[in-house]
Amino acid sequence: MLDNTFSTSDTSENKNQLYDEDKQKLMLYNKKITCPVCSTVFNARAIKKSSYRILKKDSDFFIRYSIINPYFYDVWVCNRCGYASIKNDFERLSDFDANIIRIEISPKWHSKNYPEVYNLNLAIQRYKLSLLNYDIIKARSSKKANNLIKLAWMFRLKEDKKSELEYLNYALENFKNAYYNENFPISGMDIFTTMYLIGELCRRTGKEEESLIWFGQVITAPTAPQKIKNMARDQKDLIKLNIKDTKSQDNLGDDLKDNKKQSIFSKFHK
Ligand SMILES: [Zn+2]
Repeated sequence: MLDNTFSTSDTSENKNQLYDEDKQKLMLYNKKITCPVCSTVFNARAIKKSSYRILKKDSDFFIRYSIINPYFYDVWVCNRCGYASIKNDFERLSDFDANIIRIEISPKWHSKNYPEVYNLNLAIQRYKLSLLNYDIIKARSSKKANNLIKLAWMFRLKEDKKSELEYLNYALENFKNAYYNENFPISGMDIFTTMYLIGELCRRTGKEEESLIWFGQVITAPTAPQKIKNMARDQKDLIKLNIKDTKSQDNLGDDLKDNKKQSIFSKFHK
């Protein structure tokens, strides 16, 4: 399951991966965390702030990094009881929800051996475990949406378009739920940023008509910041171009460009 057991025969690539892994080790440290479910104190792997570099941001706010990927370390897992969540939510668990985890997750949990350096497949596993926890405690849609979009992004890195699309759709559903039912900010986003993101997720999942409505609302909102209006306008133009260009059947449009670059960078993360 884990890529860093180096089972392939390509030794030159393995050497690169080893070198890369050593570099990543230097960028990591352990952070002592107390589990709110079972009170175990464990070490969470964390990245030294100065060590990651941003390469590029995608139009749905996914950030591409070089050398070490902070998304891989975004989920904390208590290996004793199986409680997992996105790190910002980890310690904010009510006693009521902690009890649900104790009953629903812990008895089924088998502790795992996590390596020092995490990779893409492990990140996917950890985001899925975190999502399971959110589902079981019936967490707010915004929390699930945040987890789901990150899972979709991990599948984008993996170049697994089918799974990416599946999780983008789930994320979209949950962001819309949050938009209609929760108070702003949602996942750290104001109302206009959320509307833009919903529009962009509609675009990426092939719901172009709906996407145009969301972008249109951002563009015409008198109080929306200029920056987000410009982003909405760019994505609206992209849809218009796509509609005109009958050759282009791929509604993930700009990802094709992104993926060409990304396939080079993804080698760092495998
Ligand atoms: Zn625990």
